Amino acid sequence: MKVTDHINQSNKTLVSFEILPPLKGKGIQSLYSHLDPLMEYNPSFINVTYHRSEHTFKKKADGSFEKVVVRKRPGTESICASIMNKYNVDTVPHLICGGFGINETEDALINLNYLGIDNVLVLRGDAAKNESAFEPEPGGHQFAIDLLKQVKNLNDGIYLEEDLKNTIKTKFCIGVAGYPEKHFEAPNMESDLKHLKAKVDAGADYIITQMFFDNAKYFAFVNACREIGINVPIIPGLKPVYTKKQLTILPKTFHIDLPTPLSEAVQACKTDLDVEKIGEEWMIEQSKELKKAGVPVLHYYTLGRPMLVANVVKEVF
Ligand code: FAD
Repeated sequence: MKVTDHINQSNKTLVSFEILPPLKGKGIQSLYSHLDPLMEYNPSFINVTYHRSEHTFKKKADGSFEKVVVRKRPGTESICASIMNKYNVDTVPHLICGGFGINETEDALINLNYLGIDNVLVLRGDAAKNESAFEPEPGGHQFAIDLLKQVKNLNDGIYLEEDLKNTIKTKFCIGVAGYPEKHFEAPNMESDLKHLKAKVDAGADYIITQMFFDNAKYFAFVNACREIGINVPIIPGLKPVYTKKQLTILPKTFHIDLPTPLSEAVQACKTDLDVEKIGEEWMIEQSKELKKAGVPVLHYYTLGRPMLVANVVKEVF
């Protein structure tokens, strides 16, 4: 079922979770162990992130170096299918532009359609580790909107091979990313919102936000979106703080702020267990306020801390 159908058929705030594929070499059991404690809260859908391949250099016996391509977390599409089978829940695979040519993207979409997956979250992806700025694959997509248009084309039965006849139309419900604190490459919020509106005008069905720790930023973002005519559901994304290191890692990696009361409370903690407690309490308060405001879904980034997120959901729902 589509994310938007879940939202339209409910008059209360729903719950969804986001997970990462296991690291290469780990089995799917590690992922099930992560999800098991969360499933009793009846998530409407589970997002599975996508991790692009990276180039590394491997030393050969003769001392020269060989360029090799590795993906540390493969399997997004098949993980989605496994989760659907095991838990009978809808899944949302993330699809990215980075590392993909348009033919590979089309094949991935055809596979997802065969697997009965109704949703995709389309993203550009970040620059590869060896790039200073995002570079598309030769002939690949530069921006998320370009990938979105390819998905829309398949939804209209338009495949890359123009002479295909009587093609089936896929029915993907398409989500896109939004940034309450601005995407870090955008020169200003107006420009970022303009590009977000373009994604919605091109057919995005809903938006999921980057994590934020200050609800005022989400509410201001939603208002700014509504003012420029973005009328699709805007799902808040929430992540817990659970280590002191995150005080610097989160702003550096995700270009977001942590409010002073939160950062000071974390700073004062003696152990990471104390930090988890603070992170949990903060997330409960954030969730309660957002739920009271009637947000369509509370989307939790569960990465690494399923029990903490489960405690929050138990308290809030
Ligand atoms: P875009 O919408 O393409 O925007 C990128 C930048 O370009 C923005 O600054 C925008 O303002 C600007 N822009 C857009 N269109 C134009 C245009 N036509 N001309 C000029 N500028 C333009 N990354 C992963 O690799 N895998 C994941 O699974 C993943 N999941 C994510 C889930 C969520 C909910 C979020 C919020 C992010 C996720 N990311 C993921 C990170 C994401 O890929 C990065 O934030 C990336 O840098 C931007 O992706 P985007 O889809 O927002 O890009």
